[in-house]
Amino acid sequence: MDKRRICVVGAGLTGTLLAARMADAGHDVEIYDRRADLRRLDLDGGRSINLALSARGFDALDRIGIADEIRSAAVPMRGRMMHAVDGDLTFQRYGTDPAHVLMSVNRDDLNIAMLNAVDARPNITTHYGVKLVDLDPDKAEVTLEVDDETTMSRFDTVIGADGAYSAVRRALQRSQGFDFEQEFLEHGYKELTIPPNPDGSYQIEPHALHIWPRGTHMMIALPNPNGSFTCTLFWPLQGEVGFGGVDTPEAVIALFEEQFPDAVALMPDLAQDYLNNPVGSLVTIRCAPWYLGDTALILGDAAHAVVPFYGQGANAAMEDCTLLMESLAQRGDDWTAGFADFADARKPHADALAGLALANYVEMRDHVGSRRFLFMVRVKQWLHKVAPDTFTPLYTMITFTRTPYADAIARAERQDRYLHIAAAVTALVVIGVVVAVGMVLT
Ligand code: FAD
Repeated sequence: MDKRRICVVGAGLTGTLLAARMADAGHDVEIYDRRADLRRLDLDGGRSINLALSARGFDALDRIGIADEIRSAAVPMRGRMMHAVDGDLTFQRYGTDPAHVLMSVNRDDLNIAMLNAVDARPNITTHYGVKLVDLDPDKAEVTLEVDDETTMSRFDTVIGADGAYSAVRRALQRSQGFDFEQEFLEHGYKELTIPPNPDGSYQIEPHALHIWPRGTHMMIALPNPNGSFTCTLFWPLQGEVGFGGVDTPEAVIALFEEQFPDAVALMPDLAQDYLNNPVGSLVTIRCAPWYLGDTALILGDAAHAVVPFYGQGANAAMEDCTLLMESLAQRGDDWTAGFADFADARKPHADALAGLALANYVEMRDHVGSRRFLFMVRVKQWLHKVAPDTFTPLYTMITFTRTPYADAIARAERQDRYLHIAAAVTALVVIGVVVAVGMVLT
């Protein structure tokens, strides 16, 4: 592969990982991020925001040598803990294999470990507080802004890892034939906290992802190593049970007493957090092509942001880096072909994940509490246990393997068809036996 001067826009999870991989492949990399260096910030007064990492993310982190460090600082979540309105708890494991756990990881700690990995590579230069304001994608020429001053720089290739509202993607949108679609949910999210007990222990089961499913909305909570939980409330943007509904401390408490009564006692700062913390939006981005010749490419959320309900956005973004490096390695010096191979192969799987993530919102907020859902999950897990090569639940394939997303969905659909046929045949046999026995007896 020829040695290139690469500009990576964004020092988030995707940008840092990709920069490290490009540097390891021998290229000179400059990273620009509009934010300050995370390591120099007072991180939101210690408020913890976490995410669930699984197989795809850890596999990618392993390739830059930091998977074990991240794993050792994470809290394993073995299953879902559903909280009913009457306080009843139902626990359901994610899989039959003890290794099938999600890891709750502090997002800032993860990003900082990745920034340290970047700093450990001499052929990467980082620039913080520098915003990309424009890009000529044909020439790989960037316009950067620092303190209201703009400068221009030219590279061999510019890679946009600058998130769902990507400026690199905006520049690509000006090129001919670029398709773009963004879909906002009518629900937003707000982060809240369940603090630890005074002795630092957890107030609720730490090795679970807690869900308060309420049909049209839900709250979830993921554990942090310091004994706290980060809760995320997913609510309609409008309506009485929604972000438009309450604006006084008393009204917040009353609404939570009605919706999540067992959580209220766990959240002493609920009203204050609710009224102060911002509401985030939930967007799906679909676009193509993700590249222009060998001079510009987007990946991660910039190319395919998804809603967070399958816990796969960051995992998929990190897996992008693995797949891109494989495509480039196969194509040698032909970067245009390497970009095309990566983008063409990955796009159907990114679209499949977008659909899965949207569908899983309905499943998490509505179905996870139902007896039928719990029964079907148990049946599928049992089938996987007795015939692991023949039957693998969709959730297992998505979360605990690197099966490409659309392939996992296709296989799960096939398995479901066989399951329905087997159930129908079993029902017919049972009916036949009952009828035969009845005839013999009469
Ligand atoms: P980002 O994290 O958005 O990083 C983009 C970077 O680019 C930022 O540092 C930004 O400052 C910088 N930047 C932006 N514009 C510019 C510019 N013009 N110039 C310079 N720099 C710029 N995923 C999971 O896998 N598991 C989860 O449990 C999970 N939970 C989630 C919960 C919520 C509520 C949300 C909203 C998302 C969740 N995700 C989860 C998804 C995950 O957060 C994203 O997929 C991931 O952050 C994408 O990383 P990225 O580096 O591509 O983009």
